[in-house]
Amino acid sequence: MKKFARIIALVMAVALMATLFASCKKEDNVLKMGTNAAFPPYEYYEGDKIVGIDAEIGALIAKKLDMELEIVDMDFNGIIAAVQNGSIDMGMAGMTKDPDREKSVNFSTSYATGVQVVIVKEGSAIKSIDDLKGKKIGVQEATTGDSYATSDFGEEAVKRYVNGAAAVQDLQNGSIDAVIIDNEPAKAFVAANEGLTILETEYTVEEYAIAVSKDDPELLEKINKAIAELKEEGKIDEIINKYIPAE
Ligand code: GLN
Repeated sequence: MKKFARIIALVMAVALMATLFASCKKEDNVLKMGTNAAFPPYEYYEGDKIVGIDAEIGALIAKKLDMELEIVDMDFNGIIAAVQNGSIDMGMAGMTKDPDREKSVNFSTSYATGVQVVIVKEGSAIKSIDDLKGKKIGVQEATTGDSYATSDFGEEAVKRYVNGAAAVQDLQNGSIDAVIIDNEPAKAFVAANEGLTILETEYTVEEYAIAVSKDDPELLEKINKAIAELKEEGKIDEIINKYIPAE
């Protein structure tokens, strides 16, 4: 009987090890991409699926790495910390490569360009960046738009929102005077909401890149290699042109 119990224990231990091994292997093969899926055309929901430029480029990068892409939707404000603590492998969210963030994470080579623009109501007295002085400006919390607006116009001028849609809603109901946000989401929000327009003067031009943990230089190298190949194959342009038709 004792021997029988020992055999059972052994079988169970082997089964447990096999399960652990299998789940490890599965984890190894998943590339977790953290994003904020409220940022069209880079990432947004179509039904219950996250689609967009970043989702598609992310999937092609995963494929080149022989991995499966898993997209995790989170607040934009939480992405850098999630990269740092390893709960995601990469942050890809129309995220601007900027020196401040580079203190916390590594960035891949850039795969797209973004421009910060200003949305106002049609007929607004705000016609240029200078006209924003003394006005209430809505931004998405922790974005580059947030930091530029705060340093140019002061803390009291800035109202922070979890995402662009919430800021745009407040612009429409008149509780703020302008929204600073990236140009492509701006176009999408203006198209989806009556009575809004984008100022012609561009606020800043920036580069989008993928954030990777400083502890994983190997992954960064692999991602950079994948981006270089995808650029060469014309795949990145193809995806961007699909979502952003030339004007
Ligand atoms: N490009 C901006 C930034 O990195 C906004 C990105 C976003 O809101 N998803 O701060």
